[in-house]
Amino acid sequence: MKSYLGLGTNLGDRSANIRCAIDMINEQAGHVLACSSFVETEPWGFVSDNAFLNAVIEIDTSLTPYELLRVTQGIERSMGRIRKSINGNYSDRIIDIDILLYEDVVVGEPELTIPHPLMWQRRFVYEPLLEIAPHLKTLSSHP
Ligand code: AMP
Repeated sequence: MKSYLGLGTNLGDRSANIRCAIDMINEQAGHVLACSSFVETEPWGFVSDNAFLNAVIEIDTSLTPYELLRVTQGIERSMGRIRKSINGNYSDRIIDIDILLYEDVVVGEPELTIPHPLMWQRRFVYEPLLEIAPHLKTLSSHP
């Protein structure tokens, strides 16, 4: 199954964090088929001195959407991400992994919402996504 994942980090060696997450995803979740450029962005939704580095990858996975969430959350934890966002408050993070799309599956639970509800509002998500998946432009409401 094809899935697109969004990666973000604003602490430490950000490129190394993204590469480390990609390696672990490749080992634990499924073969990484494509990787966007790494794009630098200002923090979104909170104030911080630390700019983000973001990327989007395409994977081929045999995990179900919920299994994929468990694995990506395990990778976040193993990379030392302790503070989760609470009540929509965002904070600095070593790695954040979002499931953006999973085939054409729609999931509408708080624990897992696919397509990711904010993906077409966040430039740092949709720009790298469209870089590796230009055919998805028809799904976005952006010109
Ligand atoms: P955050 O701390 O901002 O990474 O938010 C993580 C929370 O969002 C977790 O509790 C997840 O269960 C939930 N969540 C809902 N939809 C998704 C998604 N598509 N990808 C990743 N996490 C999600």
